[in-house]
Amino acid sequence: MKDALLVFVFTATTAAAQAQIYDLLLKNGHVLDPANHRNARMDVAVVGTKIVKVAANLPARQARHVIDASQYYLTPGLIDIHTHFDAQGADLNLNPDHNALRYGVTTAVDAGSSGADNFESFRKHVIDKAKIRLLVFLNIVAAGMYGGHVEDDPKQMNVAKAVAMARQHKDVIVGIKTAHYQPPDWIAVDNAVKAAAQSGTVCMVDFHPKPGRGYRELILKHMRPGDIHTHLYGRLTPQLDANKKLEPYMLEARKRGVLFDVGHGAGSFWFRIAVPAVQQGFLPDTISTDIHKRSIMLPRATLLDVMSKFLNSGLTLDQVIERTTVNAAKAIRRPALGTLSEGAEADIAVLELERGQFAFIDSGHAKLTGTQRLRAALTVRAGKIVWDADGIAAEDWRGAGPYSNFK
Ligand SMILES: [Zn+2]
Repeated sequence: MKDALLVFVFTATTAAAQAQIYDLLLKNGHVLDPANHRNARMDVAVVGTKIVKVAANLPARQARHVIDASQYYLTPGLIDIHTHFDAQGADLNLNPDHNALRYGVTTAVDAGSSGADNFESFRKHVIDKAKIRLLVFLNIVAAGMYGGHVEDDPKQMNVAKAVAMARQHKDVIVGIKTAHYQPPDWIAVDNAVKAAAQSGTVCMVDFHPKPGRGYRELILKHMRPGDIHTHLYGRLTPQLDANKKLEPYMLEARKRGVLFDVGHGAGSFWFRIAVPAVQQGFLPDTISTDIHKRSIMLPRATLLDVMSKFLNSGLTLDQVIERTTVNAAKAIRRPALGTLSEGAEADIAVLELERGQFAFIDSGHAKLTGTQRLRAALTVRAGKIVWDADGIAAEDWRGAGPYSNFK
């Protein structure tokens, strides 16, 4: 009797599992999900806003909407940890949804556009309305990226005010940013690190060395393990000696846990620095864009272009995806992001790796030629298709039926 009951329960459970209806099934794509060590042809099934199953040969008949992903890579929605999106008053900033989703980016972190005085308005008018998940490094400067003397004014760098704001909005604020500071003292860096320590978050540092305030000292003494130096391959901070050999303090800083981020931007990515550093094994921990109205133009600091620059400088596809998914999530201490784990929010990038002859421009307007380029065919954010460059989710118009079919 007991055995019969067990058989009944088992059969009923199996039948229920088999009967699960997927809202969306991305079929037969090449899944690259470094967080879960997946690198194989598989299907990804979505119910509502969540990923429910990643496996080979899931039954298409159980899905409301099936997409043939056989020509593409399926990766977690990409994470760009250095962006500048529509904070009020910041002229260089861009609309978040228009400048993220089409590049496969579903999570972006605004890097210091706002400070304690204007973060709440940024949250109300932009962050809470965006389709992407928009997180924030709060500028230690209360006015945010206001420019010039304001960003150099120590009176703007109130630690208690920044900590209070970071604590109150810990669902969105992942860290504290310092940038552009010109005086030859350590006030901006030390206050930003202090505010990050007191709010239990990460500090992101954009650093302009001055006499008596050097880069070596920054990464070996002032930054904590887990803090992020952005603009790794920029001209201002010396990673290579005169013979283009990696400075030993770079390895020392990495060993003590300082993280190195790309933060391409208009002025901070030079092949003349990046390629020799990569050739000597010094890869970035995270790949990010520093995307804004200027950097998106000539040097094309979109995430897929920046990733493609690294693909053609010696990194593997797996390595660039790792640095824009799992590594980025760990760096901002949001380990639930950047994965295709079952139960995770369904943020998915469907990417094409194009083969041909391509050219890429850096911040010094120098060119790197290569044979691979990444392109986003389709983007899913929280279970919804929000970008479909190739129409792979769409039906041919001749079979689309009456207008009333359109939901
Ligand atoms: Zn920036």
